Amino acid sequence: MYFIANWKMFGDIKSLNSINNVIKFSKLSKNKKFKLIYCPPYTLLNTFYKKIQNSKIILGAQNCHHEESSGPYTGSISSKMLKKIGVKYVIIGHSENRSTGETDDDINKKIKSSIKNNLNIIFCFGETLKQKRKKDTNRVLIRQISRALKGVKKKDRILFAYEPIWSIGTGLIPKSKDLSQTINFVKNKLKNNFRLKFPKVLYGGSVNSNNIQKLKEIKIIDGFLIGGASQKSKNFIDIVKKTFI
Ligand code: PEP
Repeated sequence: MYFIANWKMFGDIKSLNSINNVIKFSKLSKNKKFKLIYCPPYTLLNTFYKKIQNSKIILGAQNCHHEESSGPYTGSISSKMLKKIGVKYVIIGHSENRSTGETDDDINKKIKSSIKNNLNIIFCFGETLKQKRKKDTNRVLIRQISRALKGVKKKDRILFAYEPIWSIGTGLIPKSKDLSQTINFVKNKLKNNFRLKFPKVLYGGSVNSNNIQKLKEIKIIDGFLIGGASQKSKNFIDIVKKTFI
């Protein structure tokens, strides 16, 4: 199981103190069945990396530029730069970036450049409320996945994070039956159409320490991408603990 903390544009040096509890928790836990990945903002990556040495926490970033090494792209960070400072995972295709202009083509290039730099990818995809109401979810998801994976080799480096846009930051989660069907649909497509033997499909969208009881019943989910609830270490630890109780 993967538990991925996406801090978004939150957090400063002081917030790093809260990670001490997570480091302690991960060291004491005898359970080897989970991976903890933290994606703080760029400004904290370096300090974060030093802090988590000798712990089970893995470092991730929240985005990268599609150019794989360097270039005249003011304000951007490449996958090579991330790799060099100890980042292992990068979130690509988050709806908050799609909504400000990131295209399927950008996402495809970012995935390719990240793979070239030996990063693992947390690829986000999901439908809007309007698309869901029109019963268009499956078609939208397949379109996003196909465009993102066009010409991509080493697809096994990708974690697929299903994040319905209407669920992110709203407190709403899909009905268990719907979520189970969607995850199943995506997994089957990844196996049959994209030749992935063991695709990992995660869920993200308003996961918290209360609704995790319900979400964990959907056994085909391989992990969770957690935004708001990951900013307090207690909430994050509770989510991990409750998943295995
Ligand atoms: C996210 O940003 O990927 C996310 C799932 O956010 P939240 O948990 O706050 O809905």
